[in-house]
Amino acid sequence: MKALIVDALASGKGERKATKDAIGAGPRTVAGIFESNDIEASIIEAETILTGDLPIGFNLLLVSGMTGDIPSIRKVVSHWEGGPALIGGPVTSDPEQALRRTGCDLAVVGEGEETLSELLDAGLAGGELPDEDSLRKIRGLAFKTGSSVEMTQLRRVIPRQTFDGYKPSTSTIKGYTLYRSARVYVEVLRGCSNYHRSLLGGNCESCGVCRKGTLLERYDCPIGTPPGCGYCSVPSLYGPPKSRLSYGIKNEIVALLKEGVSRVVLSAPCFLDYGRDLLVEPEPLTDPRNPEPNYGEIEELLSSLMDIPRMRDETAAIMIENIKASLVTEKAARLLGKYLAGTPVSIGFETGSKFHSELMGRPSTPRETLTAIKRLKKAGMKPYVYFIHGLPGQSEETVDETVKAIEDSREEGAERIILYRFQSLPMSAFHSYPSAPPNVSDPGSRRIHEAAVKTNIEAKESMVGKVIRVVVAERYDRNRRQLVAYPLKHGPVVLIESPESLEGRVIDVEVTGVASERIVNGRPVAMF
Ligand code: SF4
Ligand code: SF4
Repeated sequence: MKALIVDALASGKGERKATKDAIGAGPRTVAGIFESNDIEASIIEAETILTGDLPIGFNLLLVSGMTGDIPSIRKVVSHWEGGPALIGGPVTSDPEQALRRTGCDLAVVGEGEETLSELLDAGLAGGELPDEDSLRKIRGLAFKTGSSVEMTQLRRVIPRQTFDGYKPSTSTIKGYTLYRSARVYVEVLRGCSNYHRSLLGGNCESCGVCRKGTLLERYDCPIGTPPGCGYCSVPSLYGPPKSRLSYGIKNEIVALLKEGVSRVVLSAPCFLDYGRDLLVEPEPLTDPRNPEPNYGEIEELLSSLMDIPRMRDETAAIMIENIKASLVTEKAARLLGKYLAGTPVSIGFETGSKFHSELMGRPSTPRETLTAIKRLKKAGMKPYVYFIHGLPGQSEETVDETVKAIEDSREEGAERIILYRFQSLPMSAFHSYPSAPPNVSDPGSRRIHEAAVKTNIEAKESMVGKVIRVVVAERYDRNRRQLVAYPLKHGPVVLIESPESLEGRVIDVEVTGVASERIVNGRPVAMF
């Protein structure tokens, strides 16, 4: 039996553009479950299949993606002629749509580890789809029965110890074309501690439990409003944070570096939640502010990772992903700066309006977010700040405040503004609101977009003349004389004019100009 795992995340209609240099952790987690059952598994990117042939000799197909990737997932499945086709990842938060629109046989809903293990035991390990009675006994599934779709009971989120027991595959990283230069995500923590609820559009009884209750009380809202920021489904899908122990994370990273990886991102909805769950165990960590970060656990993890020889000689880099402003104390910022200076850190701002942010269930206020940006910058980090346009509740007033917040973020040290369009997600509090139109269709959203572009261009211009270390990825498809390179630690895509084939090499480049809001030009000054 051989399983083919197709990574369709962010592949959209078939060509991944924006996030080509990012490799998510999910497919390797799935491959790890097959490996622990002595079943061979390979990972391949959706684009590779759609621009070439589907590899042969596999008996089982697993595709993971998001709702926006349904067109490319459907194309992948239409090429498949082997055994059962399964779908997983964020796309299955609407399982019926995921099955009907992609042609897959089975959807794994929410956390997939236990569900997949039980499916293998029920017969999938032999390459056959278990019969309907067997499927009905497995939680967290949706499957087709005749012309309808049947769902089994939702699975409760898996406990920390169980989560920590799964070992993601590392050898399958070579299934990704750009694994040597891409940011490879290693999951260190799953779930989110923000159990505030959105007060927008619902029938909140103002009981105050989700903001002032005990950790256990905050878990459930009496009227069933999903936890977390209104536009986000992380707490609904994955529950409160659960951290992996540091030695397992280190072993995984060391193995990835041996395979040739150079850039690792410690993946977590909020890195500063790392180890906080241990401070309140066995209670669920449902407070985004108290207790403060678990400084000891964070330090142990980061110091052990920085001790890896390739980190010490700076031919590889570790970065973190997102953090919440509510946890960016002076001490937390200093701790991050001690180990990760010069690397990016993403911080959600989303709206500049205090009132709007409270209504949406955000864990921190705009003022706190500005303070967090300032602290991180002072500690040597490169803050990337996230905003969303078209959110439910957006008004002329919130747009004014958001444009101002973008300008203030830059003043406090934001290196880059990342603007998203509001997308309505199943299992989030805003699931019944329509997704926002593109910014050009709404005057307020357009103003937010223009403020973000202006700030980003200014930030790129300030880089001209500086030297940054990059990993060369591939030839630029729009100009074959140029190479595309990604900064080892942080920064925009760099285009380098070079006849030499330097793919996979780590080099220093001087930034010579700004090509666009996202791209700069550079010339090599040193090679390693
Ligand atoms: S959202 Fe729910 S838990 Fe929070 S105050 Fe309202 S009713 Fe209470
Ligand atoms: S947006 Fe961030 S802080 Fe808010 S619920 Fe989602 S993961 Fe948590």
